[in-house]
Amino acid sequence: MKQYNRRRFLQAAGATVLIAPLHHVSSGAGGHNGRKLNIALCGLGVYAQILADGITASKFCRLSGIVTGTPAKAASWKKKYNIPDSNIYNYSNFDQLAGNKDIDLVYVVLPNSMHKEYTIRAARAGKHVITEKPMATNAADCEAMISACREAGVQLGVGYRLHFEPYNMEMKRLGQEKVFGQVRLMEISLGYKADDGTGWRTHRALSGGGPLMNLGVYCVQAARYVSGEEPIAVTAQFNPIVNKEVFAEVEASITWQLEFPSGAICNSTSTYTAGVDRLFASAEKGFFELSPAISYGPFRGRTSEGTFQFPEINQQAAQLDAMAATILAGKPLPAHISGEEGWKDCRIMDAIYQAAKSGQKVYIG
Ligand code: NAD
Repeated sequence: MKQYNRRRFLQAAGATVLIAPLHHVSSGAGGHNGRKLNIALCGLGVYAQILADGITASKFCRLSGIVTGTPAKAASWKKKYNIPDSNIYNYSNFDQLAGNKDIDLVYVVLPNSMHKEYTIRAARAGKHVITEKPMATNAADCEAMISACREAGVQLGVGYRLHFEPYNMEMKRLGQEKVFGQVRLMEISLGYKADDGTGWRTHRALSGGGPLMNLGVYCVQAARYVSGEEPIAVTAQFNPIVNKEVFAEVEASITWQLEFPSGAICNSTSTYTAGVDRLFASAEKGFFELSPAISYGPFRGRTSEGTFQFPEINQQAAQLDAMAATILAGKPLPAHISGEEGWKDCRIMDAIYQAAKSGQKVYIG
C-alpha cells in the first residue's frame, strides 16, 4: 500500500490513485483502561440493526440493553445478543433505566420526532445519549434536549457517522485547509427513488418533513464541514410532487441554495424522486468531489489532480468507538458531533423550510 504523501498528492496529475491510512480518523481518546461503554439501543428498526452490527465490530462498546415496544423483537434480540431480562425495557418502563448501573448510554434510533422525548427521558435517568440524525425535527426541540442533558450532567452526541469516515474527512480537510484555495461553489445532493412511500418518513408527525429531514441534513452538514463556515442566508424551492397521495403531508423533493460569509455558495437537492449521492466542491485552483459520497459506500473520490482512495471502513463501528473512547475517558464529545452541532443543522433546515414556504430569502441569524 502506498503511503499517503500530501505533497505528492498535490503534485499528482491525471488519474493517480493514492491509498491513505486512516490518520485523521481517531478512535482513541485514551484513558478507558480496557473498559467498554455499555449501550442500550432504543428502537429496534432497520438502522438499529446496522448499529448493533457496528457495536459487535467495535472495540470499546458493548450492546448491554434494548428498548422496544415489540415483545417478539425483545425475545429475538435477547437471544442473539445475550441481553439479560434486567436490561430489556419498553417505552412505558423506560424511566427505570435510572437504577440500572449496567447501562451507560442510550442510543436513540426512533423516528425523528421521538428523539426529543427519549433523549430527555434518558438524560433524566442519568444516561449519556446519542441520538440519530436529524437530532430533532426543529431547532427549538434541540434546545430542550441540550438543556436536559446539561442539567443532568450527561453527554449528548448526534450519530454523525461521516465525521469518522475517511473520504468525507478528506473533503473536510481539502476545503478547510484551502488545499485548492478558497471554496467558491459546492453542489451536494442526496436522494433515492421512493415515490411509492417510505413508511413513517412520509408522516409529518413522526418525520418532521420529507427528504430534507432524512437526507438533506447530510447535505447541510457537508456544506458546513467542507467550507468550514456557517451559512448566512438561504433560498429554497419545493419541487413537483409526483405521487400526491403518498406525499400528502411532506415534500417529495426540495432544492435549496446556501450562501456563506466568504461568498461561497452551495446548491443542494434532497429527494425521494431520483437517485443522487454527490458531494462536489470547486475552489479557486481546482475541484474535489465524492460520488457516492454519503451512503454506506463504497465511496469514490476525485480531485482536479487525480483520484484518491481510502480503505473502506465499518462507519458505525468507527463512530461508536470514537465516541465511546471519549466518553470512557471522561472527556466532552468534540463540538462537531455534539448536540450543539445537531442544533445548528436543524436551525438551517428550519430556515430552508421557511424559505421554500415563503418564496423569500431567509437570513440565518
Ligand atoms: P425504522 O422504521 O426501521 O425503525 C424505527 C423503530 O422505531 C422501529 O423499531 C419502530 O418499531 C420503532 N417505533 C417506536 N415507536 C414508533 C412509532 N410511534 N412509529 C413508528 N415507529 C416506532 O427506521 P430507521 O430507518 O431505523 O430510522 C430510525 C432513525 O435512525 C431515524 O431518525 C433515521 O433518520 C435514523 N437513521 C440514520 C441512519 C444513518 O445512516 N445514520 C440510517 C437510517 C436511519
